[in-house]
Amino acid sequence: MKYIFVAGGVMSGIGKGIATASIGRILKSKGFKITAIKIDPYINVDAGTMNPTEHGEVFVLDDGYETDQDMGNYERFLDESLPSINYMTTGRVYQEIIKRERNLEYKGKNVEVVPDVPLEVIRRIKEAQKSANADITLVEVGGTIGEYQNIIFLEAARMLKHQNPKDVAVVMLSYVPIPNNIGEMKTKPTQYASRELNSVGLQADIILARSPLPLDEKRKEKIATFCNIIPEHVISAPDVESIYDVPLNFEKDGLGRILCEVLGLEDKKANLADWEEFAVKTKNGSKKLEIAVVGKYFMSGDYVLSDVYISVIEAIKHAAASENLGVKLSYLDSEEYEKDPKKLEELRKYSGVLVPGGFGGRGVEGIISAIKFSRENNIPYFGLCYGMQLMVIEFARNVAKIEDANTSEINPDAKNAVIDLMPEQKEKIKRGDYGGTMRLGSYFCKLKEGTIAKSVYNSLEVSERHRHRYEVNPNVIDKLTEAGLVFSGTSPDGKLMEIAELQKQKHLFMLGTQFHPEFLSRPLRPHPLFVEFLKSASKSN
Ligand code: GLN
Repeated sequence: MKYIFVAGGVMSGIGKGIATASIGRILKSKGFKITAIKIDPYINVDAGTMNPTEHGEVFVLDDGYETDQDMGNYERFLDESLPSINYMTTGRVYQEIIKRERNLEYKGKNVEVVPDVPLEVIRRIKEAQKSANADITLVEVGGTIGEYQNIIFLEAARMLKHQNPKDVAVVMLSYVPIPNNIGEMKTKPTQYASRELNSVGLQADIILARSPLPLDEKRKEKIATFCNIIPEHVISAPDVESIYDVPLNFEKDGLGRILCEVLGLEDKKANLADWEEFAVKTKNGSKKLEIAVVGKYFMSGDYVLSDVYISVIEAIKHAAASENLGVKLSYLDSEEYEKDPKKLEELRKYSGVLVPGGFGGRGVEGIISAIKFSRENNIPYFGLCYGMQLMVIEFARNVAKIEDANTSEINPDAKNAVIDLMPEQKEKIKRGDYGGTMRLGSYFCKLKEGTIAKSVYNSLEVSERHRHRYEVNPNVIDKLTEAGLVFSGTSPDGKLMEIAELQKQKHLFMLGTQFHPEFLSRPLRPHPLFVEFLKSASKSN
């Protein structure tokens, strides 16, 4: 059993998650069984309670665990579904230790931060390895080397390496800036990061040097000399056009072979041909489409926060590549439509409208008017979770003529709550029990014959991942159905509405899902609903 720790030096946001996922893809393509673990240094027990504008998307696993978006990167690059043991935070680790202490499992011993916390981290890493039966387990340590918060996790890496010196590799992802006024690559920050890593008892075996440009031999030599590694083990990680190029670039520098050497594994040939073909297709769609993503979580100061919707964006890329389309996403702030309804006219120039998941009332009336505009103007529409609930509200108000139809999420006293809290959720909210208590993870969904959903999935039952508290109110289902809304997917007992759609004769494509199909889309296995949405969009203009 081999372990690779990936830690980041110099600064955050330089692609540690993608680097880890890419290492996974390379080693998997060599025939190894891989699993990947993400460690986040936060006290939050999981990512579910974090505001997406601060932390990015909350990614949901099959078993319902709410995690960091990097778990999504791992699943997409490895093409594997990962379990909750593969994600840990400081909060999760301490919660487990405190629970055990309360149960007298430490048998009267003093429970200490060191070694008991790193030992629990190692126990979890080994459990993840075992549950995946992995040859190689990747462990990404969140945060930056030198930060107080992640020292305890680096200590776990040190202890594991001390116990198994030949089975643990340490990879440091670093940043090599080219300051404008100097115009030259500067390696000093990387040297400091390496020393900082040494100070916690770890020596990098490999340094991935992220930089705006490829590293030259001179810089490689310099980093090697001052960071105490072989020049060949300094891997160039230049900025690339697409994240899907990263494994291919790493392989150019022989990263897979070098990792095998470090870990004492017999090297096998990497087969990245299908990946390469996909990576090329993500850049060269023959027909260009522009899709409007309408919502509210877009801006932070002057910057668009596309990280909040990373799985949606990637799912679109996967579907676009498979259909040979080039898709541009435009993020439209729904609050603008509330201020000035005439602005809705801008939607005419888009081939499709997508409303992703969300929470709360801000911008919702604007989204509902965008959905109405899409329905009335035959613009393909795809609603994910909140996007499905709001599609149902729009239909209820304007077609089924249920006046003031709303969701009780926005107005708890709404007379016509066509979207309402699920009964078991009412109790949880009353108790203030918010963490990890939504309807989470994979559930089966039964599909109805003769519907778009059934023909697209080409199956009568599918499993999809969920994250919601509210649902279509059972009291209005008959009325909505009579008015022409088709509930083409339901829970197997028929009680929960999972997919709503308009018939093909009435609209090019108008469909919403209570679940999040984006979580299951993979580069080489695009999600059929995303593919169908893009196919319809490409027909619409
Ligand atoms: N806010 C809605 C609910 O809780 C939708 C959630 C979502 O879009 N993920 O049901």
